[in-house]
Amino acid sequence: MLDVLIINGRYPDFRCEELKTGNIGAEKGMITYIGTQMPPARHTIDAADRIVSPGFIDIHMHEDDLRGETPQYIIGDMMLKMGVTTACGGNCGIQQQRLCDLKTSMDHLGGSPVNLVMFAGYNQMRYLLGMGHNEPASPAQRRALLTLLKEELEEGASGISFGIEYDPAMTDADILEALTLLDDEGYLASAHFRESGTGAIASIEEMNRLAKESGVKFQISHLSSCAATGQMAESLQLIDEMIAENPLLDFDTYPYNAFSTLIGSEVFEKESLDQWCEDIGTIMLTKEPYKNVFCTEEILEEARTKYPDMLAVGFIMNEDEIRAAICDKHGMIGSDGILFGGDGHPRASGTFPRVLGKYVREEQALSLLDALSKMTIKPADRLSLSGKGRIELGADCDLTIFDEKTIIDGATYEEIHVQPQGIDYVILGGQIAMDHGVVVNDRLGRFIPFRRSEV
Ligand SMILES: [Zn+2]
Repeated sequence: MLDVLIINGRYPDFRCEELKTGNIGAEKGMITYIGTQMPPARHTIDAADRIVSPGFIDIHMHEDDLRGETPQYIIGDMMLKMGVTTACGGNCGIQQQRLCDLKTSMDHLGGSPVNLVMFAGYNQMRYLLGMGHNEPASPAQRRALLTLLKEELEEGASGISFGIEYDPAMTDADILEALTLLDDEGYLASAHFRESGTGAIASIEEMNRLAKESGVKFQISHLSSCAATGQMAESLQLIDEMIAENPLLDFDTYPYNAFSTLIGSEVFEKESLDQWCEDIGTIMLTKEPYKNVFCTEEILEEARTKYPDMLAVGFIMNEDEIRAAICDKHGMIGSDGILFGGDGHPRASGTFPRVLGKYVREEQALSLLDALSKMTIKPADRLSLSGKGRIELGADCDLTIFDEKTIIDGATYEEIHVQPQGIDYVILGGQIAMDHGVVVNDRLGRFIPFRRSEV
């Protein structure tokens, strides 16, 4: 007897590149039936007029910080509500907790809202060694960095991420040395560029060099925050040529025309600011005493000094360029969801429904099938999750059932916690996590350690 049977839904078959209609059944967390029959099942869901998608995979987010007395999931909870079943944290070189501590925290909490894959954050390891943002690594520090990164990989990290812009002293030699640790073809490296705006093209060229020289699968992180201020057309053209030469290169991007990062970071240092920001009034702060306040010179200075961990949002990107990145034949969707004390940018809770509602339905800028592939099978393959991101016999039963006519994000810059609409069910490992849009089990997710390729 099947545990769950979903009938009459339309689902993507990426092998045939089409949407099919049929029934999907699962047993012990695995898809064991696809067809038109009605085999007996403990639980049946009628998905007529609905899309049954593989659960969305967010290849670029920043996991919850589970330290402290009363840790709680905030981004994890938002991920689940927007249909994500597997998320990848530890991006941009930032890893809130060492992996062994994070896993312990997750165990204490009895699981997590969604499955979690983790990168080892290169910058974080620098900070653990007490290194400053502009401090070049000495030979001894480089050895220590490698040791720390190795420990994270042994704990199950799926690759290494770099936040080059945040620690400008980081050299290509440092990065290439770290990448030698990724000695299995399944590993992925990701990098937050060195410079955005006028520095975008040079930064993309640098990442391409790193990708080619390392021979590692390499992800250009959140392309839109790098190049959506006038450089996107050139960037996409360049990336297309680069991928033709090196198919291990790709990128992720999010569907908002504002970026977000810590106000205390290098991004807001005078020199860097001059590179990308014409008007300080386009920068909004996200926490009291400056919640939803746009910056003046004085406020910016005060916030950087007193509240360096506060997230700021910069409304500087062009919508046409955001759309171009999302609709490009390359690339995938990643939320870059990051919050500080529950405050931040709506992308943490709206990214995937926004792509499906705004760009697929309202603007018809890309097809439903292409959008789903950028949210499921492409990131699954990037992260070497061979059982996820697809509806096939033997695949994991992680599914998101939604109404393509109504799905849309709810979160705004002022109210980031508003739940998206149009998502009926989220299923993790064959068990129902969200039922008719209501969370019924938010601890079904697990940490997914990296698995070496079989030779
Ligand atoms: Zn980043």
